[in-house]
Amino acid sequence: MPVTGGLVIPVGDLIGSPGKERLFSGSTPVRARLGDTTVDGPMTVSGRVVGMIDAVKAEFTASATARFVCTRCLTEWEAPVEAEAEQYFGHTPDEDGYAIVNQEVDVAGPARDELALGLPAVPLCREDCMGLCPTCGTDLNSEPCGGHGEDSDSPFAALKDLFDS
Ligand SMILES: [Zn+2]
Ligand SMILES: [Zn+2]
Repeated sequence: MPVTGGLVIPVGDLIGSPGKERLFSGSTPVRARLGDTTVDGPMTVSGRVVGMIDAVKAEFTASATARFVCTRCLTEWEAPVEAEAEQYFGHTPDEDGYAIVNQEVDVAGPARDELALGLPAVPLCREDCMGLCPTCGTDLNSEPCGGHGEDSDSPFAALKDLFDS
């Protein structure tokens, strides 16, 4: 079972040989973005390509490092992201334009797509992040902000007086 070293994988001998497979593992630089979450660096993809009657199927895991910005407090951090997916390649391009070309398939495109799809749309630095005060911008995770919300003309102030008395 030969292992190839890149993300363009020869499949000529797999087409028409159902069940025959080729393992692969490789890396390529990618740029992907979802909202404020970005991936800009090497993406590693490993998996296998399996022969079918008139096509091949790639099953793979893609991983990279993503840069996140917390939706609530704007803290930035980096963390690994991973996506598992499968992609069929036929002789005619699918809706994303992926196909068998010159007896080869390129899994870099599908892997990048899956990785981008798997990025969180609303990243939070932590589940209970308290975010920034909308009035003064204080990071409420590190210090409470005194001051607002207790204005005497706020409708809640009257209620609070009720409960306090
Ligand atoms: Zn946060
Ligand atoms: Zn404040």
